[in-house]
Amino acid sequence: MTLVDSRLSSDGRAHVGGPSLPQERRLVTEIPGPRSRELLARKNSAVARGVGITLPVFTDVAGGGVLVDVDGNSLIDFGTGIAVTGVGNAAPRVVAAVHEQVDRFTHTCFMITGYDSYVDVAEALNRLTPGDHDKRTALFNTGAEAVENAVKIARSYTGRPAVIAFDHAYHGRTNLTMALTAKSMPYKSGFGPFAPEIYRAPLSYPFHDGLSGPEAAKRAIAMIEKQVGAASTAAIIIEPIQGEGGFIVPAPGFLTALSEWATANGVVFIADEVQTGFARTGAMFASEHERLVPDLIVTAKGIAGGLPLSAVTGRTEIMDAPHVGGLGGTYGGNPIACAAALAAIESYEHDGLVARAGEIEQIMKARLSERQASDRRIGDVRGRGAMIAVELVDPATGEPDAALTSRVAAASHAAGVILLTCGTYGNVIRFLPPLSIGDALLHEGLDVVAQALEAA
Ligand SMILES: *Cc1c(COP(=O)(O)O)cnc(C)c1O
Repeated sequence: MTLVDSRLSSDGRAHVGGPSLPQERRLVTEIPGPRSRELLARKNSAVARGVGITLPVFTDVAGGGVLVDVDGNSLIDFGTGIAVTGVGNAAPRVVAAVHEQVDRFTHTCFMITGYDSYVDVAEALNRLTPGDHDKRTALFNTGAEAVENAVKIARSYTGRPAVIAFDHAYHGRTNLTMALTAKSMPYKSGFGPFAPEIYRAPLSYPFHDGLSGPEAAKRAIAMIEKQVGAASTAAIIIEPIQGEGGFIVPAPGFLTALSEWATANGVVFIADEVQTGFARTGAMFASEHERLVPDLIVTAKGIAGGLPLSAVTGRTEIMDAPHVGGLGGTYGGNPIACAAALAAIESYEHDGLVARAGEIEQIMKARLSERQASDRRIGDVRGRGAMIAVELVDPATGEPDAALTSRVAAASHAAGVILLTCGTYGNVIRFLPPLSIGDALLHEGLDVVAQALEAA
């Protein structure tokens, strides 16, 4: 930790973002510092209470794998704004593309007059997503909006109403996606009634159920067939690795068995890759680890380096089922977001980020598994690529330990590491570093978390 930074002005603020920011953890005040506390007080009297804040430091600049707050503290970013800035904060390619596009035009509404970057993004997604069948893409703004549209498209194609979601699922916070999401607090409680014709099937959760992939799939399919009926089912929607639910990697064979059942029964198989997409798991898409070829794939978060953009990509005959004018929205596929997406995709493909995610997995899993061997509170270490989690339990009972998890996150925050938790039982620590992070910063962040675990 050093304090030397020629780019800091007299008020202590950095003025240059991107990876040129020193890639270091540096604390100059307590966390949050006085300026952040001042802003938090203003936030509390101006912003609706429901919009919570995990780590109340306010950002001045960010770059690479660090975020510098308004007090001049440099924090290691293990959250990437929830798996969004996979290419790094203020990635140079993204920043340049956004500047260039802003100078040309900011908006036309693609449904009124077109522009090439929308088509370029569609072509890129058709090329990159699993399967070499004929595909089409539609662009939207948020993950939830894209999930809603995937459901619309599947219903339009099949003429059927029911949608199957899974235990521990997270698909968003709009009315339809709240219905698909499994967890009541904080996502659903008090916000009903929810959209109808959503049914929940049991997942494969190896750490808890001990079932093989085919056994867990058999259990889920039996539920769907008995309680819903294939003839009423438009779609199955599932995250190939669950995000908010706890970075749950289903047992091998689970996803493919569901997908085969869907195909055999005329049900649209939708992979929600909003969190797992774009190199995050050590493949461009997590479906690839299981050789899964979804009918529709939903993407967002990592797609555009921080600009709001989302997409549904899939088989032409399904994507083209809705009538002309049936899909769209004022901002969907905004030109600045499309320019950012093309730059981010270039970075994923040409800066070696898929392979880098694999290296990050090796480093994190080696260190976390080594800890697990001597710390019985670490029940499970799992995940793929730069999407790794530890599930914390009470060693005596094996029960989820949410209180310990909160203490570890809080101690990491205080020491300058942005760390997120997740899981239905609130007992999972999730690591989502940028794929551009260097080894030194990654190790330092892991050191901090290890110390937090020891102290907790
Ligand atoms: C974050 C997330 C969503 C919702 O995306 P928003 O952009 O927040 O609407 C949907 N599905 C998954 C798997 C997610 O992680």
